[in-house]
Amino acid sequence: MKKVIIIGTGLGGLATALRLTTYGYDVEMVESYHKPGGRLNRLEKDGFVFDLGPTIFSMSYEFDELFKTCQVKNPLSIFALEPLYRVFFESGRNPLTVYRDPHRLANEFSSFEPDFLKKFENYLKDAALLFRDTQFRILKQNFNSRLDYLIKMLSVPLRHTPKMLRTLWQELSRNFVSNEVRIILSLVGFFLGGTPFDTPAIYKILSYTEFQFDGYYRVKGGMYQIVEQLVELLKKRNVQFHYNTKIIKMNGQQSRVCSMLDDQGRKWESDLFVCNADAAGFRQKVLQRNKYNPQYLDKKKWGMAPFTIYLGVKGKIPNLEHHNYFLGKNFEQYTRNIFKNNISPQKPYYYVNCVTKFHPEFAPSGCEGLFILCPVPDLRYKAQWSDSEVLAKEIIQDLSLRLDYDLFANRIMLQIMNPLDWQAAFSLYRGSGLGLNHNLSQVGGFRPPNKDEEYCNLYYVGASTIPGTGLPMVIISSKLVTERILQDDPDFSKSQHRMQPDSDSAL
Ligand SMILES: Cc1cc2nc3c(=O)[nH]c(=O)nc-3n(C[C@H](O)[C@H](O)[C@H](O)COP(=O)(O)OP(=O)(O)OC[C@H]3O[C@@H](n4cnc5c(N)ncnc54)[C@H](O)[C@@H]3O)c2cc1C
Repeated sequence: MKKVIIIGTGLGGLATALRLTTYGYDVEMVESYHKPGGRLNRLEKDGFVFDLGPTIFSMSYEFDELFKTCQVKNPLSIFALEPLYRVFFESGRNPLTVYRDPHRLANEFSSFEPDFLKKFENYLKDAALLFRDTQFRILKQNFNSRLDYLIKMLSVPLRHTPKMLRTLWQELSRNFVSNEVRIILSLVGFFLGGTPFDTPAIYKILSYTEFQFDGYYRVKGGMYQIVEQLVELLKKRNVQFHYNTKIIKMNGQQSRVCSMLDDQGRKWESDLFVCNADAAGFRQKVLQRNKYNPQYLDKKKWGMAPFTIYLGVKGKIPNLEHHNYFLGKNFEQYTRNIFKNNISPQKPYYYVNCVTKFHPEFAPSGCEGLFILCPVPDLRYKAQWSDSEVLAKEIIQDLSLRLDYDLFANRIMLQIMNPLDWQAAFSLYRGSGLGLNHNLSQVGGFRPPNKDEEYCNLYYVGASTIPGTGLPMVIISSKLVTERILQDDPDFSKSQHRMQPDSDSAL
């Protein structure tokens, strides 16, 4: 039985462990944080419970695929969100509620976007076509080289080429006249860590998965259930976990890693290694590869850095959905500049998750738990965060005004995580919360590959390798790296263990 050590217990690492144990590998996991989950973590304080980062996911069928392939019953109870979210514009108007149901959505938008339903159907029809034309040809493919990627790209019908050249914002402007609809449908750009002004229009496919194909889901018991359930399954398969263990060096011999070293001087040996740490940052910091030097990585586009606030307050707050956006008046100017500015946002835009809407047990009786996420510049642009409390206060005061509830006066607990904290907790490059961005020069064959360039027994899984960021993408990443490992393994007999078929017919 071959031994595999996985570095990192983020969703990518855990999902890969589940797959590899299914194929008979002996897996051990090392993690620098004190508990599993990576960014998909949990914070518990003063009787309040929060999901640290992710609050929802899309493409739920990727979780089904994972558990089915690994021959276990899906242990998660998930619920589709309807409405999907609420958007608060700072213009005195009532908040807009975004429904999956197209007729309710059209009703919500009817006063400012004439003929919305027809335009929306056309927009989604094109997005659906693009999704179908790329899902199995590109998204769920391993690439052996950039050339291999470019050849695979040639199989995508030419009708989609203009969307590679336009930005998401330009695409929305061609389809809708109102700023409100353009802004709302452009919010998916932020899920990829960018803005609608630098995200290619091909990512309109996210609107298709959000509104038509699948929707958004929350998990009964909170998002951390995903981690807890995976860890339980892995423990049953005798996977060992070692926390507070940071890998700082890999020792190679003749194109193989033979061991790695942790920060306490311990040596770890294995046949294979899978790295779930950021695929670009690890190559720089631990492998010290010339190609991934700081100047090279700093020139890359990195996903937004998170500034997160975990707020427990006395009293109940009406008018919030599970998922809410609070936007200002100057969307374009704000979003074009915010990620490159070395000052804290003056009038911040932010996202609020009302934790207790579906989980009242996550707060003491009569209290509400709010998770606030404000995208801010990463540590290349703003290295100092001594003003964190000032920024948090500004956001909380703004939210208080807009909800007509004094959150600051009623606060019971408050915890802040700035980009430095995120970097320190999970070794995130320059504090980027979503890893490498998804512009055309950083996707597919241009992303750090999931197989190491020099060591034949070192692989990568997670947000900064293929296909990209977000929980379902990371699940796909675990599938792709497992396929690679199996292909490379001379002892693996394809006739005995077959990966689940995954093809256009599954749609
Ligand atoms: C604030 C925030 C909100 C988000 N919201 C959503 C959402 O709502 N929905 C969604 O789908 N996605 C969301 N995301 C994105 C999602 O969290 C990530 O894409 C995903 O969790 C990444 O998983 P991963 O396994 O690639 O990496 P990680 O979760 O980062 O796991 C990597 C692990 O490796 C460990 N590690 C790193 N270096 C070492 C080392 N040298 N030695 C040992 N261990 C090491 C880290 O500590 C970490 O535990 C959000 C992200 C953030 C930051």
